[in-house]
Amino acid sequence: MPSAARTPQEIGFDLLERSGAARRGRLRTAHGAVETPAFVAVGTQASVKGLDPDVVATSGVQVLFANTYHLYLRPGADVVAEHGGLHRFMGWARPLLTDSGGFQVFSLGASIEHRVGKVANIFPDEPGGSGGSQRLRPTSGSMVRVGEDEVHFVSHVDGSRHVFTPEKSIAVQRALGADVTLAFDECTSPLHDEAYTHASMQRTHRWARRCLDAFGGAPAPHGYHQALFGIVQGGAFEALRRESAAFVAGLPFDGIAIGGNLGRSHAEMHRVLDWTIEALPAGSPRHLLGIGDVPGILAAVVRGVDTFDCVAPTRNARTGTVLARRDDAGVPRAGFRLNLRNAAFARDERPLETGCDCSTCRRFSRAYLRHLLKSGESLGPQLLSVHNLRFMERLMAELRAAIEADALEACVLAWLGHRPDVADAVLGASSPGSGPATLAT
Ligand SMILES: [Zn+2]
Repeated sequence: MPSAARTPQEIGFDLLERSGAARRGRLRTAHGAVETPAFVAVGTQASVKGLDPDVVATSGVQVLFANTYHLYLRPGADVVAEHGGLHRFMGWARPLLTDSGGFQVFSLGASIEHRVGKVANIFPDEPGGSGGSQRLRPTSGSMVRVGEDEVHFVSHVDGSRHVFTPEKSIAVQRALGADVTLAFDECTSPLHDEAYTHASMQRTHRWARRCLDAFGGAPAPHGYHQALFGIVQGGAFEALRRESAAFVAGLPFDGIAIGGNLGRSHAEMHRVLDWTIEALPAGSPRHLLGIGDVPGILAAVVRGVDTFDCVAPTRNARTGTVLARRDDAGVPRAGFRLNLRNAAFARDERPLETGCDCSTCRRFSRAYLRHLLKSGESLGPQLLSVHNLRFMERLMAELRAAIEADALEACVLAWLGHRPDVADAVLGASSPGSGPATLAT
């Protein structure tokens, strides 16, 4: 295996089946294959918070996402590299992604021009969003300065000053050793107008070329091949998204991530995806950054996205928000979730979700899990995280089976039939001709 793992062909993407524009694929890496569509669970600090990685794997998680910015600041990429890379450092033998650091550089720092964080809550026009008039999260005391060649930022950990360049991001990600790395980009927010978003996108495009040069110019340090994905930007502006998608698709990246401001609502995200995916080659894997809600994933899978990452399933678990498809009368739950802190569950002996095969649902009652939460026991968030990860894995397995059976529309209606307007919007681009017409061979 070690010699085979060094061959460049070890990384690749196989397109196995199509259902409309949706794709059933397999992302091959030196640490195993990822069956797609797939959910990428987030382990920001090289840890899915509170969970032993063996438990994460047992829950069916195929691939994890770790954050370059955090690991660069603490413990430092050199420490991880001395361990032979993130897989060994964190005890995770399966595939790993790292981001470029750009998102955190821009979201945890404050921009000089706005004096606020640049990255808004996703979908500000929808319930739970930040709202059109609400100011973004202030981050006084730190700052980011964006130049043509580099980004200066101040660490949120200790106030130390740092500079990131495209080359630095690649060097750090090479040292961390993830199977899939991302090009350095600026993530713009809904605060930015079309002119700024355009200028930023063009700079991100110049950075994309520099990332490719840096990536190709340095050998993989840990003895296995790593992939580099480009990132499509352009905000919610049609001309910019189309230009960015065509530009990134024209460069020799191993795959393509769709990033940045996806619009102010799910409806806008659907349009952004339609504009973007039309320009993408069928043979490249496609990753959508930061989406993890059920309607969002369904809409993106229908449009031909292969992988997703989102911190929400595990972050929500830590506050008692449990993913569950239906209530106990078999009626779909609003948002496919329940709040376990609700007093109604205090004596409830049922599992979190009837029929769930996770190790939490097989052993523990809602009343016990609620007690753990209310008591501040760390076991509570752990057990809820296991269930929420398993929920995501069951959803993705159902989608993969539906694509294989060419029954994706029926699958979407089974999830969203109680909200016909949402189902129609999710399926909006599934008509013939909406996606690339031919399979890659
Ligand atoms: Zn469960």
